[in-house]
Amino acid sequence: MNVEVHKYGGTSIDCVEKIKTIALRTLRYQAQHKVSVVLVLSAMGQQTDALLAEARSIAEEPDPAALDVLLATGEQRSCALMILALQSHHIAARFFSGEQAGLGTDACFGQARVESVNIQGIQSALKAGIIPVVAGYQGAAPNGQVTTLGRGGSDLSAVILANALDAPCLIYTDVEGIYTADPVLIRTARRLDSIHIDDMLKFSELGAQVLSPASVRYAKNNDVNVSVHAGHQAQSLGTQLTFESSDVSVSHCLGVIIDPEVTEITLTYVPDSERLQHLLRRFKTHGIVVDLLGTQIYSGADRRWVMTIPNVQLSWCLMQFKSEGCVCLLRSELARVSLVGGEVQSIISLAQSMLTQQAIFPIRSLTTSKRLTVLVRSEQAVSLALCWHRGLCGVDVFQSISDANVAYVES
Ligand code: ADP
Ligand code: ASP
Ligand code: MG
Repeated sequence: MNVEVHKYGGTSIDCVEKIKTIALRTLRYQAQHKVSVVLVLSAMGQQTDALLAEARSIAEEPDPAALDVLLATGEQRSCALMILALQSHHIAARFFSGEQAGLGTDACFGQARVESVNIQGIQSALKAGIIPVVAGYQGAAPNGQVTTLGRGGSDLSAVILANALDAPCLIYTDVEGIYTADPVLIRTARRLDSIHIDDMLKFSELGAQVLSPASVRYAKNNDVNVSVHAGHQAQSLGTQLTFESSDVSVSHCLGVIIDPEVTEITLTYVPDSERLQHLLRRFKTHGIVVDLLGTQIYSGADRRWVMTIPNVQLSWCLMQFKSEGCVCLLRSELARVSLVGGEVQSIISLAQSMLTQQAIFPIRSLTTSKRLTVLVRSEQAVSLALCWHRGLCGVDVFQSISDANVAYVES
């Protein structure tokens, strides 16, 4: 049996009409491509944020286990409506919660790690000609309690199930694939037909929301066939994630990535630095994107740790720091802007001159052979990304440098 996993994100199913359209489309797709589809759904629109706000209107720091029960209902509602839509076409469909889909996790509420996968239930449904409709973003702890996998976690649910079913994973979203920059913010961004999995991982870790970092990491480690398509188009070329390293060395800058909402955390008091190191390792295993990590020496032996964390992961991280007795100082309304590519080193000085030209003086920056990341004030992010994208991205880098130099001299 040919099976495919199709994941729809919140924006693609933000109203009942869209759910009805996708139900019909899935039926047509199955008939046309002679495949059985497993649907993995996110919560409708911004429902997860709304549920989170509801919980916080009662408790500033909601109990993580209760919160997960609440958040998981967002995805369950999408699934119930999708099943009704499929049934209205006389097609059998069955609901799978995270637990029923066989995603066993640890008990780390809000940021759970998937530890076991059992797809027997889904396989039986497929064999019986029933469409499995799976609630993304959730699993079950060893004692059966509902857990969530961290924000954007439906991508991970889909990739994990695709791997277990040995099936391709098609991620349907509100843009037509992976672009050289966020196409919603940078109109001139270009869709890439394909992107190497390592580059995609960098894009995701640096803030390209379209695929969660954990899902890309999982796909990379397990060779999962993942592609990204437009949820609102019947036919979409999309972008294929590839594993073959290209023979042609990438001599250009592949993309400019904005992470629009990050917070800088300074740990002004750390009771035990070994335990802190352990905690930071734990963050990594739970998919927390800690970036621009460093230490600052204050007077005497006073050493402070500094790092940035995406806002959506902040409250979970703060809880962990608090439980270790750390004292945190927060600086918000910041964004990360990154240049990503094969030869970023060769364009650093040009990228920096563009910063100066825009009177942007980064709060902090990091350069490696494959990326340049700067931490700036939120309101500076888009104009910087536009400028870098226009001057440095996509064209052969040396051509780009000469063009950009001309523009620089003229202005
Ligand atoms: P979904 O609801 O489908 O999960 P998300 O909002 O999580 O969708 O991700 C899709 C969004 O990712 C797009 O609307 C786009 O604004 C953003 N995005 C950021 N960087 C990129 C990029 N390089 N390519 C495509 N989309 C991007
Ligand atoms: N609904 C969850 C979120 O908003 C999971 C997802 O969309 O992938 O983060
Ligand atoms: Mg998403």
